[in-house]
Amino acid sequence: MKMEAFQPSGSFKLRGIGHACRIHQANGIRRFISSSGGNAGLAVAYAGRKLKIPVTVVVPESTSARAIELIEQEDAGVIIRGETWQEAHEYAQSLAVADTALIHPFDDPLLWEGHATVMDEIVQQGVIPDMVILSVGGGGLLCGVMLGLVRNGIPEIPVLAVETRGADSLAASCRAGEHVEIDGIRSIATSLGAKKVARAAFEWTRSHNVMSHVVSDREALDACRRFSRDHRILVEPACGASLAPVYGSADFLESKGNIVVILCGGAGVTLEKLDEWEEMLV
Ligand SMILES: *Cc1c(COP(=O)(O)O)cnc(C)c1O
Repeated sequence: MKMEAFQPSGSFKLRGIGHACRIHQANGIRRFISSSGGNAGLAVAYAGRKLKIPVTVVVPESTSARAIELIEQEDAGVIIRGETWQEAHEYAQSLAVADTALIHPFDDPLLWEGHATVMDEIVQQGVIPDMVILSVGGGGLLCGVMLGLVRNGIPEIPVLAVETRGADSLAASCRAGEHVEIDGIRSIATSLGAKKVARAAFEWTRSHNVMSHVVSDREALDACRRFSRDHRILVEPACGASLAPVYGSADFLESKGNIVVILCGGAGVTLEKLDEWEEMLV
């Protein structure tokens, strides 16, 4: 298990976003903007505070009070705008004037470069996995892990790219054989809620040993609970998705001795939240 849940911002996002923010700072950028009320916005807020660069996070009205509180705790300004992420994102784009960088939550090569360090560390620890399991939202983590496998000379390692049903935009593209968008998001794993993955993520599935896999919300949530009992650590359903094949009876895992799960984490989980999701599923 690669414990990204222990990153200061609660998820792996800080790897790529921290890397991107450092490079933008070196290039003279004086403000960061994010349009994510989730783990990406939180990572930008954290990076900005550490780099002493002001951050504005534009979030849609649907964002929870808890998420806003977490972002404000990192000294970032929060602007609430629009009903959907699309509207918040459009407004964020209009704020991105000179000297300002709008940090995309997943579709940015700078992010992938930073996310790739997760594989650098695994290889440096002497682990060559038989398989890597990770979750896919917009596919930034997938792009980073693939880049990491390639730059560590092990591009052939199989990767299981897991989504929840209702947020399965990579699976939809794999089925269609082309880069498609799904109609909407119907899953409790909101951190996986990208209607269309980054094109680069889809392309990795065509050129490398990436297997798309879909689990139910139920399986993801059960995996969160079981993991909390086994390891006393809370993770979001977005992360439970990656644990579900390990806890479940995925027979294609049986021949694999050495499986690395990227435990992507997520700051949007509490004991109360687990109960809320439970109620949403009955
Ligand atoms: C962002 C995020 C994901 C999905 O990552 P992508 O790079 O968008 O595929 C999964 N889990 C958690 C906890 C996240 O924050």
